[in-house]
Amino acid sequence: MIQDTKRQTKDADLTRRAHHSNAELSDGPVVVLFVGIHGNETAGVIAAERVLKELSAADGSVNGSLYVIEGNSEALARGVRYVDRDLNRLWEMYNTENDFSAFVDQEVPAPVEYLESLRIKASIEEILEKHDGDQQEFIFADLHTTSSESCAFILLNDTLSNRALARKFPVPQILGIEENIHGTLLSYINNLGFRSIGFEAGAHTSEKSVTRSEAFIRLLLHNCGLLRLELPALKKAESEIRAYSEIPETYFEIRYHYLVDDAEQFRMLPGFRNFHMIEKGTPLAYDKGKLGRAPESGRIFMPLYQKKGDDGFLIIREVSPFWLTLSAWMRESFFHSLLRFLPGVDKKDEQTFEVDREVAQYLVKEIFHLLGYRVTEKDRWTYVCYRR
Ligand SMILES: [Zn+2]
Repeated sequence: MIQDTKRQTKDADLTRRAHHSNAELSDGPVVVLFVGIHGNETAGVIAAERVLKELSAADGSVNGSLYVIEGNSEALARGVRYVDRDLNRLWEMYNTENDFSAFVDQEVPAPVEYLESLRIKASIEEILEKHDGDQQEFIFADLHTTSSESCAFILLNDTLSNRALARKFPVPQILGIEENIHGTLLSYINNLGFRSIGFEAGAHTSEKSVTRSEAFIRLLLHNCGLLRLELPALKKAESEIRAYSEIPETYFEIRYHYLVDDAEQFRMLPGFRNFHMIEKGTPLAYDKGKLGRAPESGRIFMPLYQKKGDDGFLIIREVSPFWLTLSAWMRESFFHSLLRFLPGVDKKDEQTFEVDREVAQYLVKEIFHLLGYRVTEKDRWTYVCYRR
């Protein structure tokens, strides 16, 4: 538990939310932090607590509102990633007409995380309703840590407004996470139309992860104008989250994603740090007794060194600034209206295209990515491209 809201609410679940603002319903940005979405990742919880404490003593200089939403309370209490389901993989349900209420109301005990997610969603809705402002006023960030040693980095769904928010932080930025990891809280928030970024501070138990999470929150508040830092404090926070010198503070894209059926049977070979350079063919992990090698060169990303989770490892590669600039330009352009004339491309609605992979073999992903679409495989023959 971090700190209760000032207001009493009839829904006791919502009191888990912490709140600070200079005045009730003040103007200015609304920053919402999620912490402890994974219960074994406490760095964000501790860091948010520290910043909140300080903010309550600095009322005069605060312009806007900060909310902290505690994620998986049950898993935090037990010190585990999750109890029954990964709370950061089930949010696709909430972008449909349904949610998990029907499961929770049944007599059979539902997964703990169904209820946790309903509570988090209720907290988000209450904040949105209370401020009822422009979408641009809201900024969401989700704080995590990793099972391997790592520098800090940012994960984002590749929209231009997310890029603009993320690039102010001197850390590597990983684009397009939503295509590989489904059902994240960040994707849910993005689909609601808000900016949101994920911050990964470093290893779960490292003291540096707390320092970096705290620096990230301070920089976020500074960048959005909620609480400005004096120059020395700004420099200090930037140096605290800065990546190791051998890892460029640039954009990376995900090239490969190794999914694990059963984490108990997966064993990453020792010694891989996040962002470690690897060559094609490098032995990486044993899964069900079989040795797996890197299918391409790049940098290893989020190697799994714990017995819970679905993502064995990913391989990422730097994206050239040229493509980033070109894609920013194209997304604002008339090119979208030409997509439906491409061979094998079928327009489903204003935001969605389906692509026949047999007909449109080459550059499909590249073209749709440039224009800001999320590309997922519907089946072996079809891509679904959705405008973010
Ligand atoms: Zn996490």
